[in-house]
Amino acid sequence: MCRLVSALPPPARARARITIGGMREERAAGPADLHLHSACSDGTEPPAAVCVAAHAAGMRTIALTDHDTTIGWDEAADAAASLGMTLLPGAEVSAKHRGRSVHVLAYLFDPAEPQLAAMMQRVREDRIGRAERLVGNLARDYDIAWEDVLAQRTGDATVGRPHIADALVAKGIVLSREEAFAEMLHPASPYYVAHYAPSPRDVVRAIARAGGVSVIAHPAGRGMLPIPVLEELVEAGLGGLEIDHRENTAPGRATLRELADAHGLIVTGSSDYHGSGKPNRIGENTTSAEMVERIIAAATGTEPVSP
Ligand code: AMP
Ligand code: FE
Ligand code: FE
Ligand code: ZN
Repeated sequence: MCRLVSALPPPARARARITIGGMREERAAGPADLHLHSACSDGTEPPAAVCVAAHAAGMRTIALTDHDTTIGWDEAADAAASLGMTLLPGAEVSAKHRGRSVHVLAYLFDPAEPQLAAMMQRVREDRIGRAERLVGNLARDYDIAWEDVLAQRTGDATVGRPHIADALVAKGIVLSREEAFAEMLHPASPYYVAHYAPSPRDVVRAIARAGGVSVIAHPAGRGMLPIPVLEELVEAGLGGLEIDHRENTAPGRATLRELADAHGLIVTGSSDYHGSGKPNRIGENTTSAEMVERIIAAATGTEPVSP
């Protein structure tokens, strides 16, 4: 897993959408969780295991949204097909607004579209140097080396702070990812190093150019983007907002629902599952069948995998 690269045509794209009498088949027959991470980024399970866990949790439509990569798509597509689930291949694309991290979920984009692919590749590459520098800072005070972090990474997985957290756990320096983030990996920590990321506007545009649908992930957590910035993103082609997510505050959700209504945006709900790397459970928030259909109808980059 996490080693298959784009030489193969994505099966998701190869499978044609089935239409019967001109009507698209009914696909979202069951709950949908559209934000799941595998070990291709900072989740702890291979893509197929994420699909199995989602099926066991009762999901019938899922999206694999690893950070800045599509390398889990093939494995997830095969697993979803054999489980009889609908899969929306996706990614969680890193962006930055005034130094603040913004995550943009991208669904059903063309993984071969050069600009978006290059954007994600640049972020992935920069994440490696950034993590090395962060580990160098930690090594001033703790017994940790870059090799310890690499030992936590699966194949070509997108590197993130969770891999550093896992290395700190493996070395017995902290007990959990949570503790590592609270103690040494948060942005205000003296060890912290940021990674490069394009603006949310550039990311939204690139996703649209690649035929995908963009949805701002957990947009109402601490440090919500100002409404005028969100409105600029709508202008740039933003598809939707992930409103039901455990990190979104209640007042933030209310404000964003108004924004979504005013602009006819797609509204999603998701778990942001990371396996055992976070407490988030599959299906703790879900997306309505109507919204799943809107995403599928709006996308032109890749076909969903259908049962
Ligand atoms: P990075 O992409 O390297 O900046 O790391 C951010 C990632 O760390 C997010 O995608 C989360 O999955 C993860 N993360 C953030 N805070 C925590 C936490 N307190 N516990 C576990 N994982 C976290
Ligand atoms: Fe993550
Ligand atoms: Fe995120
Ligand atoms: Zn996520």
